[in-house]
Amino acid sequence: MTDMPPLSNLAAIDAAHHLHPFSDMKQLNAKGARVIQRAEGVHIYDSTGRKYLDAFAGLWCVNVGYGRKSIADAAYKQMQELPYYNTFFGTTTEPAALLAQKIASHTGENLKRVFFTNSGSEATDTWFRMARVYWKALGKPEKTLVIARKNAYHGSTVAGASLGGMKLMHEQGNLPIEGIHHINQPYWYAEGGDLSPAEFGLKVARELEAKIDELGEERVAAFVAEPIQGAGGVIIPPETYWPEIARICKARNILLVADEVICGFGRLGHWFGHQYYGFEPDLAPIAKGLSSGYLPIGGVLVSDRVADVMVEELGDFYHGFTYSGHPVCAAAALENIRIIEEEGLVERVRDDIGPYFAAAWKSLEDHAVVGEAESVGLIGGLQLAADKSTRRRYAKPDDIGSLVRNHCLENGLILRATGDRMLASPALTISRSEVDEVIEKLRAALDHLRDSVSG
Ligand code: PMP
Repeated sequence: MTDMPPLSNLAAIDAAHHLHPFSDMKQLNAKGARVIQRAEGVHIYDSTGRKYLDAFAGLWCVNVGYGRKSIADAAYKQMQELPYYNTFFGTTTEPAALLAQKIASHTGENLKRVFFTNSGSEATDTWFRMARVYWKALGKPEKTLVIARKNAYHGSTVAGASLGGMKLMHEQGNLPIEGIHHINQPYWYAEGGDLSPAEFGLKVARELEAKIDELGEERVAAFVAEPIQGAGGVIIPPETYWPEIARICKARNILLVADEVICGFGRLGHWFGHQYYGFEPDLAPIAKGLSSGYLPIGGVLVSDRVADVMVEELGDFYHGFTYSGHPVCAAAALENIRIIEEEGLVERVRDDIGPYFAAAWKSLEDHAVVGEAESVGLIGGLQLAADKSTRRRYAKPDDIGSLVRNHCLENGLILRATGDRMLASPALTISRSEVDEVIEKLRAALDHLRDSVSG
């Protein structure tokens, strides 16, 4: 530690040498990055000693909370025994095999195999290739197109950013790549018009059917969506949405891909988001909660339908990463899942803290600037509204969301804003009193918005 620079210099060093993801570097360098130094439970501490309640679990990922020594111990032990070996040429490692088995113990009966990656983005690129490879192996090489949704997030790699429906990302790097089509999202508050949420859910789901017909069923490989759209603003679909999507994918014989990167590992009070919504995907990228972010690891859950073809028909799948199934990351993920099981965190979210959070979050709907406050398990989206009686939104949504987020931050609460929506996704271990603190501080920020900005 002795040759570490003093902390006060770190922001300057960072500005000189470190390019950050999703950041305007000119603005950030002018201000200097906040240096986060340590964390415990749901709290993080910066270099000035300030404490924050992190109601976002890092980036939707620290499901078991910070400060789990047993995960550090598991990684340390594995690193001493076997720090690295690959899983390419006829080899495996104990943690990789046991982790695949452990994950499969929490999936439905047709989703028993996993392909490991280092991140959610790589998981996206992996299933994207798998879907095409699958149809080709079945003698349908023309089935290559993938349908995704506007405002979705599936990662930052070329395929990930293309499948995502973020305009600003598409503008950088000539995306989307060919063969990807986007349909509307089930965002009733903004786009539902006079329809009821149930009617709107069916309407947008049926856009999938129309798009498949337009493109030709024989050319469409797959449809992908997040069970609950996360980065797009925690867009919780109406209940009619997923059953209709599942029906259409089956009827039209296209693969259904559920992006479980956020929803997986307990966030919705089930091991996976598709279990909450009652459907079974053919492919499902995972990451984040798999290791609670302690080490980078992701993967793709592969159904028997796809895996059997890959195993029996394909021969080599020319795809993989040096660190696919990295033994240290896998050992950390195994310990993370052991904690989730031992502490009953999935059940806790479903039966105890999830309902408590839902009631507290919903109570914010009595506020003048809140149009809607919805949640499932421990993920919440709150819609800010200039006039809640007409669902009229503020003219500058990004400014409004940032104003509320910054007010929270000044009061020691970390929430995220996407446009005019406030997002929460705390650790699955958050206590009731910590939930109360989130609501109290968010309410103070909403008061500030009401008092400082006219619609
Ligand atoms: N899919 C979803 C739904 C995500 O939310 C994310 C990350 N926020 C990703 C994929 C990409 O994961 P990563 O950042 O680990 O590449």
